[in-house]
Amino acid sequence: MTAQLDLATVLLLHKSSFLVGALCFLYLRWQSPRNEGLGILAIGFLFLALASTLAGYGEQKLLPAFLWTLSSFTLGLSGYALFWIGLRRLSGQRLRRADWLALAIPLIGAIAGLITHFHVVNYVRASVFNTGAFLYLAASALAVVSDRKDEPLPVRAIFAASLAVGAGLCLAVVVGLLKPDALPITTTYAFFLLIISHFAIALFALVLVKERAEAALRRTADTDMLTGIGNRRWFLSQLPRFDWKGDALAVMDLDFFKRVNDRFGHQAGDQVLIAFAELVRANLRATDCFARLGGEEFGLYLPKTNEAQARAIVERLRLATEQLDVRFDGQRVALSVSIGVVVGRGAEHSWEELFSMADAALYQAKDAGRNRVITYAPPPASFAIDISIARTG
Ligand code: GH3
Ligand code: MG
Ligand code: MG
Repeated sequence: MTAQLDLATVLLLHKSSFLVGALCFLYLRWQSPRNEGLGILAIGFLFLALASTLAGYGEQKLLPAFLWTLSSFTLGLSGYALFWIGLRRLSGQRLRRADWLALAIPLIGAIAGLITHFHVVNYVRASVFNTGAFLYLAASALAVVSDRKDEPLPVRAIFAASLAVGAGLCLAVVVGLLKPDALPITTTYAFFLLIISHFAIALFALVLVKERAEAALRRTADTDMLTGIGNRRWFLSQLPRFDWKGDALAVMDLDFFKRVNDRFGHQAGDQVLIAFAELVRANLRATDCFARLGGEEFGLYLPKTNEAQARAIVERLRLATEQLDVRFDGQRVALSVSIGVVVGRGAEHSWEELFSMADAALYQAKDAGRNRVITYAPPPASFAIDISIARTG
């Protein structure tokens, strides 16, 4: 297929791939302005398109050799440096001023060219240029991979792979220039693959921005805006539908919370909710799920926790709530929490049933004077029969 591709066509495609990439980055910047780095990426690709255009004119002898070789070399390498700066910003969403130092490399190259005229020798210029491109693309791939710890988006692996392929092809071009027999593919073919990798890079940048937006939406939909912990929707999504055997569920409700609002104001009430959520969050195991179910009611799911352990955990939380030191107008807010707990014992209960049981235990705790933990106990058999009769009747 590539045997029919002449160098002029490949160069035209090469330039077009940068233009399409730049357009893609500009569109993304317009649509998703919160993403850092897209403008720099677009400028980087525009520099590369310009460098490719100058090289094309040069090959057709439309420009003086000294001028086109030096300008396309400097612009092209600056384009890759800008690409690396932009990609690091896009990937990590961090602004690092020191990154701009990457532009020193093409600058030094241009000065070296003015002094030594190395750039007029085709294979030397192309080798230096593609070595630089290889380094910038390989460093970009590393940035995309290493940022996955902070933001584990699925696209990162394939995005980094496309950058690594681009880097590998630049290296292949250098090898092909220095040792033509060592390369299994022609330089034109390597260029052709490089063009495809440019399209892939632009495409995966687009996917990264899309996945980032989706993750942010999901976070917003699952988070309680006041306390920052999960909301009811998120909590329910974390619960197993059946088979609660060995898992515990607790429903916690702050006592006389209305009085806090009435006495200190709604904003003070909000601060109490935040302090309580923070207190519980800081006292849980990594596997526990804690969420605000609504108002001053919170849910706690404790996987693989027996009754004694669940009681110990929530009792500790109850005591810590009593001791929570929140003050307004110089006065300490008296705070306590009532907690209803239920432990799955093997019967095939749905979470709706478990919730009703934990709620029933919570109401008992309220009725018994508040500031206490009550574990759900199934009603006596006769009562259970009454309920089943009432249901069927
Ligand atoms: P109990 O001990 O029986 O639970 O009494 P309570 O006062 O805590 O319960 P009640 O259901 O009577 O009142 C709950 C209050 O919680 C009423 C409501 O205004 C307040 N509340 C619900 N959501 C918020 C919120 O987001 N911020 C604040 N500040 N108050 C809230
Ligand atoms: Mg309450
Ligand atoms: Mg309540």
